[in-house]
Amino acid sequence: GETKPSDFIRDKVSADLAANKYGGRVATRFPPEPNGYLHIGHAKSICLNFGVAQEFGGVCHLRMDDTNPTTEDPEYVEAIQRDVRWLGFEWGENMFYASDYYERLYELGEKLIRLGRAYVCDLSEEQMAEYRGIVGQPGKESPYRDRSVEENLDRFRRMRKGEFPEGACVLRAKIDMTSPNMKMRDPPIYRIKHAHHYRTGDSWCIYPLYDFAHCLSDSMERITHSICTLEFESARELYDWVVQATEMPWVPKQTEFARLNLTYTVMSKRKLLQLVGEGHVRGWDDPRMPTLAGMRRRGYTPEAIRDFCGRVGVARNISTVDVALLEHTVREDLNPRSPRVLAVLHPLKVTIANWPDGEVEELDGPYWPHDIPKEGSRKIPFSGELYIDRDDFMEEPPKDFYRLAPGRSVRLRHGYIVTCTEVIKDAAGQVKELICSYDPATRGGVAPKGTKIDGTIHWVSAAHALDAEVRLYDRLFSTEFPGGAGVDFKEELNPASLTVVTAKVEPSLKSAAAGDRFQFERLGFFLVDSDSKPGAPVFNRTVSLKDSWAK
Ligand code: ATP
Ligand code: MG
Ligand code: MG
Repeated sequence: GETKPSDFIRDKVSADLAANKYGGRVATRFPPEPNGYLHIGHAKSICLNFGVAQEFGGVCHLRMDDTNPTTEDPEYVEAIQRDVRWLGFEWGENMFYASDYYERLYELGEKLIRLGRAYVCDLSEEQMAEYRGIVGQPGKESPYRDRSVEENLDRFRRMRKGEFPEGACVLRAKIDMTSPNMKMRDPPIYRIKHAHHYRTGDSWCIYPLYDFAHCLSDSMERITHSICTLEFESARELYDWVVQATEMPWVPKQTEFARLNLTYTVMSKRKLLQLVGEGHVRGWDDPRMPTLAGMRRRGYTPEAIRDFCGRVGVARNISTVDVALLEHTVREDLNPRSPRVLAVLHPLKVTIANWPDGEVEELDGPYWPHDIPKEGSRKIPFSGELYIDRDDFMEEPPKDFYRLAPGRSVRLRHGYIVTCTEVIKDAAGQVKELICSYDPATRGGVAPKGTKIDGTIHWVSAAHALDAEVRLYDRLFSTEFPGGAGVDFKEELNPASLTVVTAKVEPSLKSAAAGDRFQFERLGFFLVDSDSKPGAPVFNRTVSLKDSWAK
């Protein structure tokens, strides 16, 4: 069950409401840049921003932070909207684009110039870095810092008109070149970019930088709590400066929290874009990706992801969350929603020698275990030729191997107890078939008096089973923290992150449709993939049943 979250951000919102700080208004925003698909880290921010708005009777804006023409694309805008909705949040009328503010932002740039708080600087990027100096020592003022208001206005207007090439000059905030906060040493706020923008086309060739556009967008939208990740902590002083220096009537406040990091994956859009662009994965929605689209395709549910974000919580200490917690949460969520069926991933033929020739028996198989209060069952055909999983047989088993071996007995799920009497091998010495006997008195798996059968394995009837493509996923990277010091993260891709097998599945799965979920008993939770065709289903393993999460 979901408990009401509590954390330092919610405490702050509560306190601000109590103090009537924003006249009773609570307005947050989720501001992705449409330069890639959303990932599980974004989910944490979405749950926080939309969650706070819901809990405090406020609003949460969805804002495209689209001030970088060269990386943005409408495909990403659509994907972001789809994924936020899928996660269970709705922005209603509150859809915004930073690019809609270009004119007003430009005017605020001119206003800063008129107030003597900004200037056009012709230093090159390298020179600017040199003048900025290093931490602990004061920087040096640009020789262009004392240009007159008229000259600055003229140059800024000519920047807008396209009279200068890229890199020729920037508009800089005039703050303090000796500030201990490097961010405050006259940061650039506008740069020249002769590039087509997916929304404004070729109307602009100068674009506002994040530190200028973001806080002013927040202010224009009358955001109260501008929640962002800790990397922006040192930018908060500049955030406040810009809002004040432009004399904006609405003053939002920035609050930072620790971003979500997860083991065995990467979570920067730049890196994810590389994986997609270079073909290391099938696309943004590849089920191995930490994107919401990938997780959806893999079979994770929005409920599980929201639950996970709640368990991770919101704090200020940076940590990396064990992906095993995410998988544990997904299992808990899928358990009561996944009917149990039988499938064999690596088929090994079993012939029941004493089964009446040609006879087929219909067994009754409940879909749900006793601890899930749901009803329903299907018929499972049992015959003299079956498949079991290769892993469930060992020729020379250790003592604690409770499955099938020469001379040993095992229970076939919903069926009979069988005993292995003979092992048939091919010319290469590979086991290719088992001969077993069955005990007609054990229907339903009841062991005869005085005997004890410890193992139960899954199986399918050979003549009735359907072939199905099954995609088994492992971690995308083989190291916990891919791309550590001095290593290219792509060197650490797990070469075995995808295994495709042709499985034998029980005939009831004939009617399975894309999006349906099942538990293949003993093997994991599976989702029917959208690549499925009638008669040729494709299953993704969402997660195995083995839980490695240490509570
Ligand atoms: P990336 O580093 O993946 O490119 P970003 O922060 O540049 O991410 P944005 O599209 O700007 O991507 O992110 C939108 C919002 O999501 C921002 O407010 C950002 O702070 C938040 N966010 C991004 N990554 C995480 C994360 N790992 N954990 C929590 N919040 C995140
Ligand atoms: Mg960003
Ligand atoms: Mg980024």
